[in-house]
Amino acid sequence: TNLFCAVQDTDATLEYYLASGDWSHKRRTAEQWDDWAKKGASGKCVTNHPDLFTEDGRSGPLTYEVELYQGCVRFKRGCKFCIEPKKGVPIWRDEDDVIAEITTALDNGVRHVRIGGATDIYTYKADGVVELEYPIPNPEPISKVLSGLREDERLEILHVDNANPSIVAENLEPATEITKSLISTLSDGAVLSFGLESADPRVHETNWLNCDSEQLKFIVKDTGIGMSEAEEMFPIGTELKGIWWEAHDDRIRRPEQILDKTHRDASIYGRAGITFGRQIGAYPILVGTPYQVPLETESDIIVTGHGMRSLSGVETNLSINTASQSQLEAIPGIGSKAAWRIVSNRAKALRKFPENPFSDVKTALQDAGVQSYGLALKVLKA
Ligand code: SF4
Repeated sequence: TNLFCAVQDTDATLEYYLASGDWSHKRRTAEQWDDWAKKGASGKCVTNHPDLFTEDGRSGPLTYEVELYQGCVRFKRGCKFCIEPKKGVPIWRDEDDVIAEITTALDNGVRHVRIGGATDIYTYKADGVVELEYPIPNPEPISKVLSGLREDERLEILHVDNANPSIVAENLEPATEITKSLISTLSDGAVLSFGLESADPRVHETNWLNCDSEQLKFIVKDTGIGMSEAEEMFPIGTELKGIWWEAHDDRIRRPEQILDKTHRDASIYGRAGITFGRQIGAYPILVGTPYQVPLETESDIIVTGHGMRSLSGVETNLSINTASQSQLEAIPGIGSKAAWRIVSNRAKALRKFPENPFSDVKTALQDAGVQSYGLALKVLKA
C-alpha cells in the first residue's frame, strides 16, 4: 500500500511530493520545466563535473543534453514495449527557452550539446499531433532552435538524438527541409538513431510497432537520407574532427581514469597497441587506431578502414620526423617495410640534421619506396 508508481511525469510528480508530502500524478507546466532546466544548467552537476574541463583548462568532453519535448506522437496507441505513450499528448518546450538554457550552460563552461529528450526530432511542434497517425513535420521551430544555438560561437559540438523513419517516409517534403537544417547546423559525426524493431509483419502488428520495413527501405535506399553502411557514410580518407581517446583495447572509458592519470596507463587496462575513441557526443561510432594514443586527449583523424559500427583511423598532423613505426604503418599506402625504411632513413638523416631530419614529406615517402602516397600527404607533415 506504500507503493506509488509515477508513470506519466516522474519529475513533476516528485516535485509535488517534495512540496506537499502527497503522492499524486502530476504533469509539468512550461514554467516549471524552464525553471528546472535553468537551475540544472548552472548547477553543480555541470560546474563540478570532472568532464567539464581538462587538467590543463581546455574544454573537456562533457556533453550537455537539453530536453526539447516530452512524450511521443503515438500517444494514443504506441509501441507496446515503450513507456513514452504513457506520458500523454507531447508537450513542447519553447524555442527561446531551449536557447536560453543553453546560453546559461555555455556561461558555465559547457561547449558540447546534444538535443535529446525528444522521441523524434522531426515531430517537434509537428502539425496534427492529436488527429493524425503521421503528424506533419514543421521545419520552422526546429530550424529556429538549431540556428539560434549556432549563433553562439562558444558552442562547439551540436548533435541530436532520435528520429522516426516512418514520419520522414510519410512526409518527405517537410522532413527534407528539417534534414537540411540538421545538415547545416550539426557537427561532424552526427547520427540520427533510426529504428526498426522488427521486419516481421506479425511482430509488427501484434506489438503496434511504428516503422515498417517498407518505410525504412524507402528512407535508406530511395531518398539517400539514411545510409546503412559505415563505408558509405565515412569513405576512406574522410577527416573526422575531435576524437576523444577513451580506452586501450577494451572499449570502456573508466570513471577512475578521468580523475587519476595512473589509470590511463595501458599496462593497467588493455593492450598498448590499440586505442579506441569517439567524437564527443557521437556515441554510436567507435574509432580505433592500431597504436597507442594517450587517453583523455583529443585529435582529428583520417578514416582508414571500416567495421560494422566502427572505423579505423590514423591521427592527422603527425610529423614524419617523429611518427612511430606503428603510426606510419597505420597510414594506407605505407606498408610495414616502407614504414621501417622511413624510420631507418630518418635515423641516418638525424645525424646530419638533428632538428628536422626530413624537410619534405613527399621526398621522404618516395625515398622509402612509397608509391601511393595521396592519403599519407593528408596525414603527415614535416
Ligand atoms: S515511436 Fe518510439 S517513442 Fe513512440 S511509442 Fe514507439 S518506440 Fe516509443
